[in-house]
Amino acid sequence: MTRPIQATIDLAALRHNYDVAKKLAPRTRLFAVVKANAYGHGIERAARALADRADGFALLEMDAAVRLRESGYGGRIALLEGLFDAQEVKEVLEHRLSIVVHHAEQLHMLRGVKAGSAIDVMLKVNTGMNRLGLQPHEFENALAELRANPAVGSITLLTHFAQADEPRGVTWQLDVLRRLRGIEPLPHCFANSAALLRYPETHGDWARPGIMLYGVSPFGGETGREIGLKPAMTLESRLIAVRELAPGETVGYGAVYTARNRARIGVVACGYADGYPRHAPTGTPVLVAGTPTQTVGRVSMDMLCVDVTGVPEAGVGAPVVLWGKGNPVERVAEAAGTVGYELLCALAQRVPVIEVGMENQQ
Ligand SMILES: *Cc1c(COP(=O)(O)O)cnc(C)c1O
Repeated sequence: MTRPIQATIDLAALRHNYDVAKKLAPRTRLFAVVKANAYGHGIERAARALADRADGFALLEMDAAVRLRESGYGGRIALLEGLFDAQEVKEVLEHRLSIVVHHAEQLHMLRGVKAGSAIDVMLKVNTGMNRLGLQPHEFENALAELRANPAVGSITLLTHFAQADEPRGVTWQLDVLRRLRGIEPLPHCFANSAALLRYPETHGDWARPGIMLYGVSPFGGETGREIGLKPAMTLESRLIAVRELAPGETVGYGAVYTARNRARIGVVACGYADGYPRHAPTGTPVLVAGTPTQTVGRVSMDMLCVDVTGVPEAGVGAPVVLWGKGNPVERVAEAAGTVGYELLCALAQRVPVIEVGMENQQ
């Protein structure tokens, strides 16, 4: 028998979630954001699931963008951080990639590219995130330069929201855009998942949902399921040992958990080398043999322990859902002081992946 851990990626869930996004913004075209290996789900897999419906894909790794184009996808493929150096113009032209231009340096890289190249540029303005984007006062000149550059084809206006998932929202950033001159004729692409879900005024011509495609809510205190999404990744394993503890006995490295009463402890074949967060404390939710319970003690490299005192039927071999179906990754992340994004992206290479949900597609 092989080590029992596995991640199941449900391609039907991905398609369902994309369709949910599309229903929310029916007149908006969507870039499915597949950066970071499609948030840990596998970019080739996510692209295969969504290629028939995604208006575009957005990511930031050149090699992945090229592979996506070579797989036969004909829609827009956007590089969210744009060019890292002028050499990459070659690939952009060859594979018809769209590029974000967020810095004067990147405008320079486009000078001297051969006329008629019709490069699809997404001009990014910093409206308060203060990460990437031209300053509002640089916008007019940048736009004029791009318009005058005979290598540039279409130009789309981009910005990114800092608090679309929080009470303060997006208005303060939209106000910055409203003060810019010359934006009206440009197609707009502003919304991430949170803005797409909460702020219809941001939908515009294009949007860039990421996390919601994977079935995860961008909002704290809420799970994707509550907003009609289905988890695309389920991380499962099994108990490989079960033991009884007497009151006062401890569990694992550092002996950070002490049984107050008699307890039954299950040992799960999953640890931080599989992508489970080491900082998940005692009490992190887990599903054992279909029953919700919690982790106990420190997560180690290859194992973690769970309390199965209340799950007497759970013996060696009992199935465990670390996150996904029946145990939302949002809840696990919350307990571990992080976000679902980080857990999904961290799925380790060594975890075997099973793919479901495309059976009726071919
Ligand atoms: C990652 C990313 C997105 C997607 O954000 P989600 O919160 O996952 O929907 C959109 N736009 C940019 C620029 C990004 O980097």
